[in-house]
Amino acid sequence: MSHRIAVIPGDGIGKEVMPEGLRALEAAAKRFGIDLSLEHFDFASCDYYAEHGQMLPDDWFEQLKGADAIFYGAVGWPETVPDHISLWGSLLQFRRRFDQYVNLRPCKLLPGVKSPLADRKPGDIDFYVVRENTEGEYSSVGGKMFEGTDREVVIQETVMTRTGVDRVLKYAYELAQSRPRKKLTSATKSNGIAITMPWWDERVKAMGVHYPEVSVDQFHIDILTANFVMHPDWFDVVVASNLFGDILSDLGPACTGTIGVAPSANINPDGHFPSLFEPVHGSAPDIAGKGIANPIGQVWSAAMMLEHLGHPKAGQAIVDAFEAVLAEGDKAVLTPDVGGHGTTEALGRAIAERIAG
Ligand code: ATP
Ligand code: MG
Repeated sequence: MSHRIAVIPGDGIGKEVMPEGLRALEAAAKRFGIDLSLEHFDFASCDYYAEHGQMLPDDWFEQLKGADAIFYGAVGWPETVPDHISLWGSLLQFRRRFDQYVNLRPCKLLPGVKSPLADRKPGDIDFYVVRENTEGEYSSVGGKMFEGTDREVVIQETVMTRTGVDRVLKYAYELAQSRPRKKLTSATKSNGIAITMPWWDERVKAMGVHYPEVSVDQFHIDILTANFVMHPDWFDVVVASNLFGDILSDLGPACTGTIGVAPSANINPDGHFPSLFEPVHGSAPDIAGKGIANPIGQVWSAAMMLEHLGHPKAGQAIVDAFEAVLAEGDKAVLTPDVGGHGTTEALGRAIAERIAG
């Protein structure tokens, strides 16, 4: 069976790291005998916007819905298109229409990469953040009263549904269950936000009944962010609402050094729609065109995609390959953000050669 992959490079360094992501993907597919059919799309980019006045064609949903996964680069070119238009007109449409209700980010300190946290070594930081991606604090329920007067009142509601919360908790429990430590941490703020957050805690307990092997702890978001910095080794799988997950899924990768290596997945676990895999970083206009972007965020996203498609060994082979190249520390191969003077392509090729074995 062939997997249909929609390939969308997007903007800026997205176009530079994508070829290296594909190089790794194809090397792993070849080695493990996986049949991939790649379809390339130029939309969801600011170049497309310049030509068409919109980020996506009207029939984008029809064009993409049959894909098994979407492999994305980065979106945004603020010089020509404001970020809210480029982002809302592309990625956020995908997330919403394809019901990608899990945002998954590994936070792992890699060999040869320096953590901003003192004395941390690979192995000390190795956890996942699971963010609820469709509801919660990011609702548009609310409004303004007495606008522009001294009596102005502004309200924005948090909306949580049992279906929405239970499905992301189930995903997080399953992930924790599949890992050696089997540990789940839930982030809330039940002492201050007295309706939604205690209810989230209850749903965590209720779901836990089905996963007796998973040990669970719960932290308030304020002390949890402190512990990400002080004790990152405590965590295995961390699950949080949309807002808290947003914060944690930036903080976690930041603790592991360069943003250039961090991957992410927007997942529709039911498999009704394609999931989307992309590096955490943006289009990085400051280094775009220079050929020095680190391709590992894109390469690692390819590994997550293969795992999602049912090929965990192929995914692991990609991770092993870039860890080995990083550990080797050849400065002619590594990009500047990880201490070398190499290029995007040199690092991408070195990784692909390793994968090929
Ligand atoms: P977003 O638009 O997604 O919110 P952003 O525009 O705030 O992101 P990025 O585009 O990710 O930020 O860039 C942030 C900083 O990180 C920049 O200085 C950029 O050069 C650097 N950076 C981002 N990605 C990489 C990479 N792959 N390799 C090296 N440096 C990178
Ligand atoms: Mg940006």
